[in-house]
Amino acid sequence: MSAKIIDGRSVATKVRNQVKLATESYYSATGRRPGLATVLVGHDPASHVYINNKRKQCVAAGMVDLHHPLPAEVAQEDLEALLRKLAADDSVSGVLLQLPVPEHLDASALLDCIPAHKDVDGLTTESAGLLARGLRSLRPCTPAGVIELLRVSEIEVSGRHAVIVGRSQLVGKPLSQLLLQSDATVTVAHSRTQNLPSITRDADIIIAAAGVPHLIGATHVKPGATVIDVGIHRTRDGLRGDVDFDAVVDIAGALTPVPGGVGPMTIAMLLSNTLQAATFNTQGMAASVR
Ligand code: NAD
Repeated sequence: MSAKIIDGRSVATKVRNQVKLATESYYSATGRRPGLATVLVGHDPASHVYINNKRKQCVAAGMVDLHHPLPAEVAQEDLEALLRKLAADDSVSGVLLQLPVPEHLDASALLDCIPAHKDVDGLTTESAGLLARGLRSLRPCTPAGVIELLRVSEIEVSGRHAVIVGRSQLVGKPLSQLLLQSDATVTVAHSRTQNLPSITRDADIIIAAAGVPHLIGATHVKPGATVIDVGIHRTRDGLRGDVDFDAVVDIAGALTPVPGGVGPMTIAMLLSNTLQAATFNTQGMAASVR
């Protein structure tokens, strides 16, 4: 039997619509709109595309687009000063530093200039610590998008074995925390893991986030398992994921496509985080996040 295809585009549209409605309610109640400050350093074409999409969708959701383009050669201390200024600015609900930054910059130190209550990407050391402790914080967007897809698709997570392939700060590690919080039994595989198929074949839920095209094939998947593909690869034949969709579609119980699976969820969750950050600021909830 063919897997149920999890339609990330439609789930992302619903999230965006909900955020838009909630943003209007926030505006009616406070007379203010959430403001998203995006900081883009240099001219990386892919980063330009990503940031433009984020800015466009932020405006479409009724939020204020506060964009700061900077030259590639900007100095670390100047960029840190800008991030601190945005952190202190009441009209800014959330601050997003587009990664990667040029090599002469220390991305970790830059991210850590963003306070947790404005960290709409959920990537600072403070946010990672709060997440690991299960405390209130803004969740990294792609992992939060995966959790939302599982929730909306009514995939049982509690008590199930989830195998995450990839241990990055951006996806694998925070996702392991979120799945643990949802009471899954979590295994994290990575580039040094031996005999990956024997591990993923035991999974009720596989989340592929290795950045290796078509890494997950028929031998990796238990019949009926849910397979979530985070990978994105631009190929001559279009976008592809870490999962060999055609090889897996008749084995898995549910499967995300690429494109149209996890990808659209990332910006939707960013908007959701920006609104949440605005309410943290307005309701004086920063203290509970810090
Ligand atoms: P990364 O390179 O930082 O991390 C990859 C991880 O996969 C590492 O932990 C590594 O140990 C592991 N890995 C590599 N090869 C492996 C193998 N053969 N077997 C098992 N594990 C292996 O990548 P990332 O930033 O986490 O991104 C992963 C993928 O997800 C990429 O394709 C990226 O483009 C995509 N991505 C998509 C979105 C989205 O919005 N859908 C967001 C972020 C990343």
